[in-house]
Amino acid sequence: MLECHSAKQIRQKLYAALPAFADIFPASKDAHILIKPNLNSNMNALTGNTTDLRLLEALLSYLRDQGYRVITIGEGTSSGFHREKINIFSRLCIDRVAKRFNAKLLDLNFAPYTHVGFEYGEKAAVARICTEADFFINLPKLKTHFEAGLSVCLKNMMGTLVGLPNKQKTHRSLFKNILNLNKFVKPHLHIVDGLIAMEGTGPSSGTPVRVDLVLIGTDPYLLDLACAKIAGFEYKEVPYLMLAKEQGLITQEYLNFVEAFVPKEAIKPFKRPHVNMLVRFVNNPKWQYSFIKIRLSPVMNTLFSLKSFGTLLNATGLRQDVFDKQDLCLQQMCLETALCDNCKKCQAYCPVGLTLPEQLQPLHEQCIGCLYCFLVCPKKAIKIKGDLGFFKEQLKRYDALTRAIT
Ligand code: SF4
Ligand code: SF4
Repeated sequence: MLECHSAKQIRQKLYAALPAFADIFPASKDAHILIKPNLNSNMNALTGNTTDLRLLEALLSYLRDQGYRVITIGEGTSSGFHREKINIFSRLCIDRVAKRFNAKLLDLNFAPYTHVGFEYGEKAAVARICTEADFFINLPKLKTHFEAGLSVCLKNMMGTLVGLPNKQKTHRSLFKNILNLNKFVKPHLHIVDGLIAMEGTGPSSGTPVRVDLVLIGTDPYLLDLACAKIAGFEYKEVPYLMLAKEQGLITQEYLNFVEAFVPKEAIKPFKRPHVNMLVRFVNNPKWQYSFIKIRLSPVMNTLFSLKSFGTLLNATGLRQDVFDKQDLCLQQMCLETALCDNCKKCQAYCPVGLTLPEQLQPLHEQCIGCLYCFLVCPKKAIKIKGDLGFFKEQLKRYDALTRAIT
């Protein structure tokens, strides 16, 4: 468990911790390494929603420094983003981070696949690379989840399923299928982004909470248990963990270990997910799968893609994400020097390690345009110009929260 906050600390601590896992890293520098972050939506890491670019940047840098030449970042973003052809890699600046390290990007929704067995004899398509990569690194975000209780290592494997219909198959028996999937897809290493986590009604409507932790390990059950403890959840409140205990995947030794391993100071009880009666009714496991089947019919697909219907779904809480097709077009970033008190918070959050605020003016060529600096500045001294597109929704929901917690 690494306690870290700034981009520099994250990098230093990751570099110090990863050599302890040297024996499981591939010997060949041509081994194919797959990294699977949580890119569940177009809301960036500072909202508690997606994997932090500072952690991804530090990991890629470490892998390159170790000489690994073949690296892929793969994710199969769920729900309407791929239906609306919204490029999450670009919106979250993953493409620009990947380019810095010559890593490939792969949308797992469209990847060649193999099949995993689910409950009721069903089969679901899983991106084959997730079972065939020489070294698979899971890079989940620590979040609450209104159906699953929490989303960390085990739940992050949902993004390995190919396309919406296969992801929806999990809902016929969600908790059992989360475990079925994890018995089939087994990352070699898990690095949990608990820097800015999400509490409340995750996975996309919760609120960010600063935890300042990164957890590393090879056992996703142990890591999820530790994260539950950190978030102040009993494992029994997380249905798939309770099921894992019943199936013997989590033993009393695991519970004892976590009890001793997580210090009291690390525990930050998260707000629990809270959904209204309608959402609870629609997501009731007894009939949720029937709703999903209706939902996947061509007529409903057309209906769900209508903006007005999407607004209605958002208003009722049935949909957490907003699928705005307008990309962000950033024309200018500048520093209002009269407002800046040189607190250096912007530098602590810059994933590419620029010397800020100095290198904002003129803007450094290495800048990836992630806007982390803009979002954390307590004085609002960093100004942006351009068409904000989808980013307006993030500002509406999270601007004040982000500045307050960072
Ligand atoms: S965070 Fe804002 S106030 Fe602090 S150094 Fe950066 S620009 Fe200046
Ligand atoms: S300067 Fe700001 S926008 Fe550019 S990479 Fe750093 S944090 Fe992101």
